[in-house]
Amino acid sequence: MKKHDVIVVGGGLAGLRAAWKVSDFADTAVVSKIHPLRSHTGAAQGGIAASLGNATPDSWEEHMFDTVKGSDYLGDQDVIEVLVKEAPQTIYELEHLGVAFSRTEEGKIAQRAFGGHTKPRACYAADWTGHTLLHTVYEQCVPKKIKFYDEWFALSVAVQDGVCRGIVALEIPTGRIEIFHSKSVIITTGGYGRAFKITSNALANTGDGLNLALGAGLPLEDMEFVQFHPTGLYRHGILLTEGARGEGGYLINRTGERFMKRYAPEKMELAPRDVISRAEQTEMDEGKGIDGKDFVYLDLRHLGAAKILEALPQTRDLAMSFAGVDPIKNPIPIQPTAHYSMGGIPTTIAGQVIMDEKNTPVAGLYAAGECACVSMHGANRLGTNSLLDAAMFGKRAAESAIEYLKGAEHQPFPEEVCESAKEKVRRLRVANGPESAPKLRHELQETMTQKCGIFRDEERLDECLAKIRELQDRFQRIGIGDRSLTFNTEIIEALETQNLLEFSEIIVYGAIARRESRGAHWRVDYPKRDDQNWLKHTMAFKKEGKIELRYKDVTITKFPPKERGY
Ligand SMILES: Cc1cc2nc3c(=O)[nH]c(=O)nc-3n(C[C@H](O)[C@H](O)[C@H](O)COP(=O)(O)OP(=O)(O)OC[C@H]3O[C@@H](n4cnc5c(N)ncnc54)[C@H](O)[C@@H]3O)c2cc1C
Repeated sequence: MKKHDVIVVGGGLAGLRAAWKVSDFADTAVVSKIHPLRSHTGAAQGGIAASLGNATPDSWEEHMFDTVKGSDYLGDQDVIEVLVKEAPQTIYELEHLGVAFSRTEEGKIAQRAFGGHTKPRACYAADWTGHTLLHTVYEQCVPKKIKFYDEWFALSVAVQDGVCRGIVALEIPTGRIEIFHSKSVIITTGGYGRAFKITSNALANTGDGLNLALGAGLPLEDMEFVQFHPTGLYRHGILLTEGARGEGGYLINRTGERFMKRYAPEKMELAPRDVISRAEQTEMDEGKGIDGKDFVYLDLRHLGAAKILEALPQTRDLAMSFAGVDPIKNPIPIQPTAHYSMGGIPTTIAGQVIMDEKNTPVAGLYAAGECACVSMHGANRLGTNSLLDAAMFGKRAAESAIEYLKGAEHQPFPEEVCESAKEKVRRLRVANGPESAPKLRHELQETMTQKCGIFRDEERLDECLAKIRELQDRFQRIGIGDRSLTFNTEIIEALETQNLLEFSEIIVYGAIARRESRGAHWRVDYPKRDDQNWLKHTMAFKKEGKIELRYKDVTITKFPPKERGY
């Protein structure tokens, strides 16, 4: 058994910021299934938002309004207000930690335009923003007294009588399963785009943290809202940053038309992601994709070689390596790609995980970053707001933990949590059925993309739910070829597949129930937003195999809902 005051599960931006902060006050460990520097944060390109006003005058009020409107009025406005007000401070803290932001001529932090933001407020480090943030915060963690458990896979979190008691994790190199006994746990396991076939997300983004919560009897919030990013590289889904359009890139269809003028005449290519992804999909469905196929072009040629090389070097590299296209000379084939999870583990504004729709917190349990739903992104996240969310709420969760630890003791660890985690892995280790986890995962991703994608309707969603339940059933009959304990990646992939199957059911279940179109959730059979019945957060519970949906009010303070146009 390992013993620490705080266990941070996940080593991405949210996890490292939390660990960096809390480790000055408490014995802290970071448990991560991959090395922290391989976390998906490192893939973030475009920028991190704050109303610094370095490019044009800006204010937190404008940042707030853009975020509320972008969220299609489902974001909680008290949370959004905190986020946008503290954003400049967060950027300066990161700068003082050593983050090498790109600069203006006078040496200020440079800022560029991003979709849905009315002012250029994305602070960036060329198109390597996430990489720069992750490496810098990690470097700052190294000299602190933080114990890193790299390549440990968290299997369960123990919550008993409303108090968190630690986690159970599996050491990937040895197969050993151990209790991590702690007073407090901060879950920062990132997003879950891997439920879809075409996704910008890293292989590790399988939403394991959601299952930690579900397994402890806790709910998930707003899972039906999954963001599709408009510029995934055709066939691969690899992301080409929105910064490319922020720098002035065009989207064109087979006739060479900048089709966004018919969908968002004012904002054009800088409308929010949900609007552009639907526009692209509509063009393709109407046969206006390039060569009538399911892709359109992102055209950067008019920006010129100097601009592309200076501001978008990674974008060019990705296009050349994975599509064989040099954006200086040719347009890049792109299609929408599953990108960001607005839903997740529900938390309070202080990062405390809650156990019901009345906001009752679990003592000692926190969540932050993409796996959490606090909810500031509501039904649709604006680009560059999530690195901000991860950096800020990682720190806020740590601050709450610091307060909590002042009066907390280690509570007895419930042995049965460890036993059932061990039993789950043991069953996989001897599994010799006819089904294979990779095949089930592939079928799930195919189904989710086709039937629970950008455009949804009841019939397809019902089919999707039935398919997921069939896959869950078939999972009980999988076989595992590798019986060894050493680096058994087959078992890890099976555990991840099981997690994908669990929370995908909740995404689809919530999407069937929500009979309206809001943000990223677009129902062709209910194409209007319905504030009267649906201006509320979904809280999904899973007890004894059955999903139960309850609902929670949206906090509205400054901006009453109105129609959203761009
Ligand atoms: C390609 C791409 C580009 C993006 N660009 C931007 C951008 O420009 N601006 C912006 O604001 N946002 C961007 N985003 C979104 C943003 O990067 C993420 O939301 C954010 O980085 C998430 O940080 P995180 O710390 O929550 O999770 P991550 O960085 O994904 O880290 C998750 C951590 O959890 C660990 N983990 C997961 N499961 C387990 C388990 N079972 N046991 C132990 N550890 C586990 C992993 O090892 C990892 O360390 C982008 C996302 C993508 C995919």
